[in-house]
Amino acid sequence: MSDSTCPICHRPTDANFRPFCSRHCADVDLGRWFSGTYRVPSFRQDNEEEQDEYRDGEG
Ligand SMILES: [Zn+2]
Repeated sequence: MSDSTCPICHRPTDANFRPFCSRHCADVDLGRWFSGTYRVPSFRQDNEEEQDEYRDGEG
């Protein structure tokens, strides 16, 4: 499968920024996420600790 494209601008993804094509698009997506446009049910998977889950004071 090599049909992976950036969900933001639909250009071919970069291995360093998957699933995005660049850091810019990753930031754009992150901004949407923080804006509450959509929610990710399981953002983290390797940690069962939930202590840092609700920190939103850092930018
Ligand atoms: Zn992009």
